[in-house]
Amino acid sequence: MIKLHDKYFKPYLSEEQILTAVKSIAEKIAVDYKDKTPVFVGVLNGAFMFVSDFLKAYPYPCEVSFIKLSSYQGLTSTGIVESLLDPPDNIQGRSVIILEDIIDSGRTLKELVHIFNKTNVAEYKIASLFYKSEVYNGEYTIDYVGIDIPDKFIVGYGLDYNELGRNLREVYQLNQKHMINLVLFGKPGAGKGTQAEFLKDQYNLQHISTGDVFRYNIKNGTELGNLAKSYMDKGDLVPDEVTIKMLQDEVENHLDASGFIFDGFPRTVAQAQALDTFLESREMRIDATLALDANDEVLIQRLLERGKVSGRTDDQDESKIRNRFEEYNQKTAPLQAYYEAQGKFHSVNGIGAIEDITRRLGKVIEEL
Ligand code: AMP
Repeated sequence: MIKLHDKYFKPYLSEEQILTAVKSIAEKIAVDYKDKTPVFVGVLNGAFMFVSDFLKAYPYPCEVSFIKLSSYQGLTSTGIVESLLDPPDNIQGRSVIILEDIIDSGRTLKELVHIFNKTNVAEYKIASLFYKSEVYNGEYTIDYVGIDIPDKFIVGYGLDYNELGRNLREVYQLNQKHMINLVLFGKPGAGKGTQAEFLKDQYNLQHISTGDVFRYNIKNGTELGNLAKSYMDKGDLVPDEVTIKMLQDEVENHLDASGFIFDGFPRTVAQAQALDTFLESREMRIDATLALDANDEVLIQRLLERGKVSGRTDDQDESKIRNRFEEYNQKTAPLQAYYEAQGKFHSVNGIGAIEDITRRLGKVIEEL
């Protein structure tokens, strides 16, 4: 996936598929125009790459020229077709083949037909590398077509999204499915980290665990780690300003992700509000908060078991665990109401086999 300005695009046509289509158009035209030395007229800007590869694939004598029209602005055609560079003078009495990168509504094509009807060429034909037959509503029948494509916005191989993407060798399609951003919610030991590991692979999401980021910083002796350590050792929450800033940096570093799983964040209403404001500023949002339900006694046993294996000191001492539950009850539990008010809170039974719990979470995600 690539990002151009504010939008994400996914791979759609490989360089090889495109070049095969270019070659097939060149071969068909070559059969028809072998003896005529045609003038190929590229429609700028989008067709420059097509024209270049087309000429390399055209085996007989020919000339080339350009015309410039403009109609797109952003993702939708403005409907206004401006002529920015007029047809060349050398086309009088010649066979002209207009090379277009893409034909969709047919508005630009209509203007081209209008322009070329006024010239005194011997004949003109239209060749388009990409053609959206689903939405084309013009009268002119296109003479040579490379690839018929669905009505999705594309970039690359000369085509742009607000001027970016023209230099890509492949064609990308707008990724219209918006990102999925999930909050995994639940007490310490509820299985957030375990489930995040499965969900991130299943839905291609970036997993951000604030606890893991803190532990990584502690291990590496960073300033952030030293600061967090004193709180974590006691089972207290790290102050909001520190945690929020850290979370934002993590998201910023992974803006190419197709979504996030937030694990262990937010843990306070202030964090949840900061997260909403931050995501909104990036045109993102939380889609669902998935709460893993389990009772304290089960959780304490799980944490003590985990402490033996992981070496996490906050998992080895029952009083620290109880303090983390206390922090949860006071500061984190109110988030349930916060997300319920937004209609995003989903409770899932967190007791049972790991794969059963993953399946329960998946069911909620699929229905989003
Ligand atoms: P966890 O690995 O999620 O259980 O987190 C371990 C510890 O890291 C917590 O007990 C807190 O001290 C700290 N921590 C993790 N996430 C946050 C957060 N969102 N806000 C404050 N402290 C956090």
